[in-house]
Amino acid sequence: MKIDVISIFPEYLAPLELSLLGKAQDKGLLEINVHDLRVHTSDNHHSVDDTPYGGGAGMVMKAQIWGDALDDLITDGCDLIILTPGGRRFNQRMAEELSTKSHLLFACGRYEGIDDRVRQHYSTTAYSDRGIRVHEISIGDYVLGGGEVASMVIIEAVTRLIPGVLGNPESIVEESHMSEGFVEYPSFTKPATWRDLEVPEILLSGNHAAIAKWRSEAAHKRAQDNL
Ligand code: SAM
Repeated sequence: MKIDVISIFPEYLAPLELSLLGKAQDKGLLEINVHDLRVHTSDNHHSVDDTPYGGGAGMVMKAQIWGDALDDLITDGCDLIILTPGGRRFNQRMAEELSTKSHLLFACGRYEGIDDRVRQHYSTTAYSDRGIRVHEISIGDYVLGGGEVASMVIIEAVTRLIPGVLGNPESIVEESHMSEGFVEYPSFTKPATWRDLEVPEILLSGNHAAIAKWRSEAAHKRAQDNL
């Protein structure tokens, strides 16, 4: 999978080189490139924003600069993801769907966000006929300062589902959110006693059927408790 991320703070995305994502890139399973939006500015101040039409607080990111940046990177069949708190709420189903794609292109907003004509332009049939899909995605019902952290959340959730990225593929066979409302059972490791707290005895019994029953009930209780 190829992933491009456009931001005015490319250094914010440095963690994409670490851990599983770094290893997946070393193995050739992933190619991640981060691009500086300001490269497409032409004024001395490298400004990417301007005051909003209609008035109001804050600044809006200019369509022309975003258009130039996206035109350079957009490919046939790619999925353009515009991060915005007003978008569709990201979840595991969306992660699964995106993990099957070959090219994801992330647009990280700042200030009051990106001029909406950018979304409109890349949503026209000229692009959909080329298999290009635009998604406005939010990672939750709160407002961040920019789309960088949101793009990293999505990239991490999506890429761990790509075959070969996780060392042990069994890890994603049964885990939280694999189905609506499902959460995984609580986990424990050695030692069996820590600060007077004991691991549930059943987990030490070697009785696989009883362990599976305990885990299922514990997972159900956890889901109910967190409603
Ligand atoms: N004025 C915008 C609004 O009320 O919808 C918020 C803009 S926010 C301060 C700046 C940028 O951060 C957004 O353009 C978006 O890229 C990103 N952002 C903030 N919260 C987000 C969220 N929950 N999910 C995804 N992106 C978010």
